[in-house]
Amino acid sequence: MDTPAPTDLSAGPPALVVAIDGPSGSGKSTVSRRAAQRLGLAYLDTGAMYRAATWWCLDQGVRLDDADEVTAQVLRMPLVMGVDPAAPSVHVGAVDVGEPIRSQEISAQVSAVATNLAVRAELGRLQRAAIAAESRPDSFSGGRGVVAEGRDITTVIAPDADVRLLLTASEEARLARRAREVHGTDDAAAVEATRDGVLRRDADDSTVVEFRTAADGVVTVDSSELDLDQTVDAVLEVVARVTGRRP
Ligand code: C5P
Repeated sequence: MDTPAPTDLSAGPPALVVAIDGPSGSGKSTVSRRAAQRLGLAYLDTGAMYRAATWWCLDQGVRLDDADEVTAQVLRMPLVMGVDPAAPSVHVGAVDVGEPIRSQEISAQVSAVATNLAVRAELGRLQRAAIAAESRPDSFSGGRGVVAEGRDITTVIAPDADVRLLLTASEEARLARRAREVHGTDDAAAVEATRDGVLRRDADDSTVVEFRTAADGVVTVDSSELDLDQTVDAVLEVVARVTGRRP
């Protein structure tokens, strides 16, 4: 009979994978970053990867309605994601695209790239690899794990994550938040100007991934009535309840 392998008592707890999805304006990026910091985990912003792919295709002069050419370009994109939640970064080759990928131009066009299924397959492969890498001792988190955030994370990319969360908020709360972020006010004109970026983009994106209702086993956190700190606390409470781990 085989002798069982000895347990390595020097190893820490197994890597934790926390997957968070939700619609635009739910606060998932900020909340995921803060939660990752509090838990000592890496942070993966998958939306930034779709934004970088869009930036790269435009930079290469590719028309976004040419699905085959977009796919070919994404397959050769030299993308490097920095997963430190205190200073997340996105580089394409040597170019720091952290700022340009947040522009209105990219926000308005990213859904065209994100609804390309071959692009989703490729970025999904990179996302799974980045998540798996954080279970290794030589990774950013030192093997502690990762908070990964994005619309299909709980269902398609990391359905086996230890904790799967849908961060949501009422349409009204999401529009007001995004208006304050982009225009510095949530008066009627600012909310109206924000509508396309939030509701149209979600409607387009939801043609290929469902992120507005929680799948089986996914815990919903509604942040409509919560401020940022309270939302982070609510997320950490779910992590503690499901895994027994606290910051
Ligand atoms: O989260 P963020 O607004 O940065 O995402 C930008 C876009 O990337 C979304 O509108 C969506 O089109 C796409 N996306 C996606 N799947 C993800 C993350 C983002 O399709 N997991």
